[in-house]
Amino acid sequence: MTQPPAAAAVLPPYSALEPTCAKCGWIGATLQYRPARGPLVLPWNHNRVVDVARPERLARHCTSCGYHWDEALLDAPPTVPAADAHEGQADEEGRS
Ligand SMILES: [Zn+2]
Repeated sequence: MTQPPAAAAVLPPYSALEPTCAKCGWIGATLQYRPARGPLVLPWNHNRVVDVARPERLARHCTSCGYHWDEALLDAPPTVPAADAHEGQADEEGRS
């Protein structure tokens, strides 16, 4: 059985009150707070995951084309993956 990825992608940072839509270039998108939630499963089959768990986030919705995307909250902790951060540190230590 094919399941969605285990972890949601890292959220992009909060853009602005009136961000530019990446799909149609329209300036302006609605903004809605979404609390963190667990994975979504089918009501009649709890073994079938239809969406992975999502962190606390801001949901953006383009008011022109309807494209939807999520952004990190202003008070969100840094979202740099731990492995990359560690590699960066090692690089800097090697150069000094
Ligand atoms: Zn759009």
